[in-house]
Amino acid sequence: MQIGIPAEIRTGETRVAATPETVKKYAQGGHHKVLVQAGAGLASSYQDADYVAAGATIVSSAVDVYGSADLVLKVRGPEPSELEQMRRDQMLVGLLAPYRTEGLQAIAARGVTAFAMEWLPRISRAQSMDVLSSQANIAGYKAVMIAANTYGRMMPMLMTAAGTIKAARVIIMGVGVAGLQAIATAKRLGAVVEATDVRPETKEQVESLGAKFIEVPLTDAEKDLAKGQGGYARDMGDDYRKRQAALVAERIKQADIVVTTALIPGRPAPVLVTEDMVKSMRPGSVIVDMAVEQGGNCPLSELDRTVVKHGVHLVGIANLPATVPADSSALYARNLYNFLALMLDGKTGAFNLNREDEVVAGTLACIGGELVRK
Ligand code: NAD
Repeated sequence: MQIGIPAEIRTGETRVAATPETVKKYAQGGHHKVLVQAGAGLASSYQDADYVAAGATIVSSAVDVYGSADLVLKVRGPEPSELEQMRRDQMLVGLLAPYRTEGLQAIAARGVTAFAMEWLPRISRAQSMDVLSSQANIAGYKAVMIAANTYGRMMPMLMTAAGTIKAARVIIMGVGVAGLQAIATAKRLGAVVEATDVRPETKEQVESLGAKFIEVPLTDAEKDLAKGQGGYARDMGDDYRKRQAALVAERIKQADIVVTTALIPGRPAPVLVTEDMVKSMRPGSVIVDMAVEQGGNCPLSELDRTVVKHGVHLVGIANLPATVPADSSALYARNLYNFLALMLDGKTGAFNLNREDEVVAGTLACIGGELVRK
């Protein structure tokens, strides 16, 4: 089989879907030929020569990749100009933004067999393939680094001859993969950290990292909802939102930095930080809205911009993993390799699209010109 790695062309996308490390694994055994577009890894600091040393063939253009590859590995879903180069029954693996159906419909119409990595089932066996987790982990770290860089004060408490500097107070909203890493990173920098989430099991996780949990008391009816589904949260309803907002409003007045990560799959992000809450923050405070691409947890944040409103810095960088490209690509590429190992026979190199496997079936988005989920 020929495995193709084109350079990503989406604006600001610095990641690449295979690294020399994973190319070496694909090429091992001599069953697969790996084609890498010249310069595909450069923005992630992976050189063409390293891909060649790992067993890849460097080709000069995307046309050469799409023209020959049976299986195309991407980070982002194809742009129209890329899709035009793809052919029927060619296979594609990537972050295809499956909740926006127009993109998937175009891929299906082209007859491409596509796997959307966002749909990977969240079961233990699939953890090593979970691109959302690997990228969210890095994004949570970088969100705090950006917040620290934007904040005009120190993160840790300092006692100096010139007097004492107070530790920054940080609130993390949404304690999934990104939120947990954000808590750990802010703690390492010496901040005083509080966090909140709708899923009650996160309380213990927050406390085990040395942070304080902001707990919204749940009614009996809400307890079941709050467990979520498949590791993801569900919409908690208006009444919960009001109680959460009242509690958060009190805490936010004291906060210097707020990092919001709250997402509900397939739905707009919940609004957690209102304009009034922003107004209540001290000038120079920072909000990093990691949900900005899904509409934002704060209505004042702007996509891919850092703006100052009511004296508060609002950071709305959508693609935080792309700001840590070498490590993001390394983890993403390993996730794809582990996923493809479900279908590529290690001994013979034969490809088996085994729809009996729930990980393969859950991720398969288009086949035979049709969308798998209508
Ligand atoms: P996510 O990115 O979908 O959401 C981020 C967080 O926002 C979640 O914790 C969610 O509960 C929270 N949230 C949603 N609405 C909120 C609201 N109104 N207020 C406050 N918080 C709100 O989630 P994620 O980071 O991808 O993962 C969520 C969970 O899934 C984690 O516990 C993670 O450990 C688990 N997980 C399991 C596997 C696996 O078993 N294979 C893989 C990945 C993640």
